[in-house]
Amino acid sequence: MLSTMKELLRQLPSVDEVLKDERIRALLESQPRVLVIDAIRASLDAKRDQVRAGRTADLSLPSVVDGTVTMLAEMSAPSLRPLINATGVVVHTNLGRSLLSEEALKRVALVNRSYSNLEYDIRAGERGKRHTHIEGILTRLTGAEAATAVNNNAAAVLLCLNTLALGKEVVVSRGELVEIGGSFRVPEVMSRGGALLREVGTTNKTHLKDYQKAINENTGLLLKVHTSNYKIVGFTKEVSPAELSELGKKHGIPVMWDLGSGSFLDLASHGIGDEPTVQQAMSSGVDVLTFSGDKLLGGPQAGMILGRKKFLDPIRSNPLARALRIDKMTLAALEATLTQYLDMEKAKREIPTLWMLTQPLSEIERKAGLLATGIEQTGSGFSVSIQDDLSQSGGGALPTGNLPTKVVAIGHAALSANQIESRLRLGKPAIITRIKEGMVLFDPRTLNDGEIAKIVESVKNLLQEPGARSQKPE
Ligand SMILES: *Cc1c(COP(=O)(O)O)cnc(C)c1O
Repeated sequence: MLSTMKELLRQLPSVDEVLKDERIRALLESQPRVLVIDAIRASLDAKRDQVRAGRTADLSLPSVVDGTVTMLAEMSAPSLRPLINATGVVVHTNLGRSLLSEEALKRVALVNRSYSNLEYDIRAGERGKRHTHIEGILTRLTGAEAATAVNNNAAAVLLCLNTLALGKEVVVSRGELVEIGGSFRVPEVMSRGGALLREVGTTNKTHLKDYQKAINENTGLLLKVHTSNYKIVGFTKEVSPAELSELGKKHGIPVMWDLGSGSFLDLASHGIGDEPTVQQAMSSGVDVLTFSGDKLLGGPQAGMILGRKKFLDPIRSNPLARALRIDKMTLAALEATLTQYLDMEKAKREIPTLWMLTQPLSEIERKAGLLATGIEQTGSGFSVSIQDDLSQSGGGALPTGNLPTKVVAIGHAALSANQIESRLRLGKPAIITRIKEGMVLFDPRTLNDGEIAKIVESVKNLLQEPGARSQKPE
C-alpha cells in the first residue's frame, strides 16, 4: 500500500520538467519566475495531497500545468481590487467609502505622473507649503478664516486636541463620548492626544451651566462631537455650538466641533436627514471645525480642519502635523473635488457620493427594472420582485436619515439565501448584497448600468457552476 503510494508520487513531473512546458514558458514571459515556481510547487503539492488522501489524481504533466495556471492566477491577482456594492450603503467604510469623481481621478494621474509644486512656491522660487493648494478653495466654500487637511478626521481631532489642549482639560458632554467603527473613541483619542477628559452632563441631557461649572484655570478646550452613528431621542437637551461658542468667548477658551461627516451640500433641503452643512456649522461661531474628506464630502480619505487663523497656525506647526500629513495623491483628488463644489448642480451630478444620495427614486426604479428583467431573462428559475425598502447613507453619517429606495429581491427553490449571498460574494467580481427575510436584496442606489449587467451575468452562472466558486461547504 505504502509502496504503491510512493510509486504514484514518483510519477509526478519535477519542477524543472514543468518549467520546460510550452504553456509555462509562455507564462514566464509576463510573470515573475519566483511566482511561477511557487505556483508549480503549489500545484504539485495539491496532487500529492490527493494521492496521500487515497483519492484518484491525474498526475500527468498537462494536469500539473493546468493546476499551475489556476494557482498563478490566484497568486498574481491584486489583493486590493474593485467589487460591486449592491448594499445601497453609499458611504460604506468597509468597501472604500466614497468613489472619486472622474475629475479627481484625472488630477491624481496628472499630478503624480510628473514632478509638482507640492511644497514649492513657483512665483517666489522658494519652499512652499502643501496646505496652500486647498486652503483658498476651502475658505471660499465655507467662510472659514483658515484651513488645512491631514490624513483623516481621526488625525484631525488628535492633532487639534494635542495642539490646543496638551496637558489641559477638554470639556465634553457625556452624551457625545462617541465610538466610531470600534477604533475611534473620543476618550481614547483624548488621552493619546495628551488632553484630560472632563465629562459633563448626563447621557441624555447636558446644559450650558454644566459646561460653565466645569471651566477652571486648566481648561484648554470646549469640545462638541457629532453623534454620527446614533441619535439620542426623547427627554433630551444638548447645548448648541452657537451657545458653546459664546461661552468660550466669554472665558477666552477655544471651542471645537468634530462634525464627523461634513457635507457642503444641504442634504436636509433634499429631504435627507437634518444635518447642518459645513457652511452652517462654521457660521455657528466655533473656533475650529473638523470633518472627513471621504464621507459626505465625497472626496479622498482626509481630515479637514477649518477655523480661526490664530488656532490653525499652531495646529499646522505642531510636529505631529508632519506625521499626520496628507500625500500628494490625496491632495490632488481633494483639490479637484472641492473645486467641483463651486457649481453645486455640477457637483451633484459629478461627485459619485452626492449623485448616489440625491438621484431621484425614478432613476433607482429604472435600474431596479433593468436588473429584475435581466435576471428573469436568464431563465434560471429565480423568483424576482421589486420591493420598497430603505437605503442608508452610511459612514457614520445621518444615523436616522434613511433613504427610500427600490430593491430587487431574489430567491431560488434550490439555493438558500445564504448560498446565493456567498456565491455572489465569492464570484468574480465579488458582489456584496444584503439578506432580508430569506431573500437576497440588490439595492440599485449604489449600482450603475455596467454593474447591473455584470450582476445579471453572475446570477446566470450561480447554478451552472456550483462548487467552482466555493470549495467550502455552505
Ligand atoms: C467618522 C468620524 C471620525 C473619524 O473620521 P475618519 O475620517 O474616519 O478618521 C471622527 N469623528 C466623528 C464624529 C466621525 O463621524
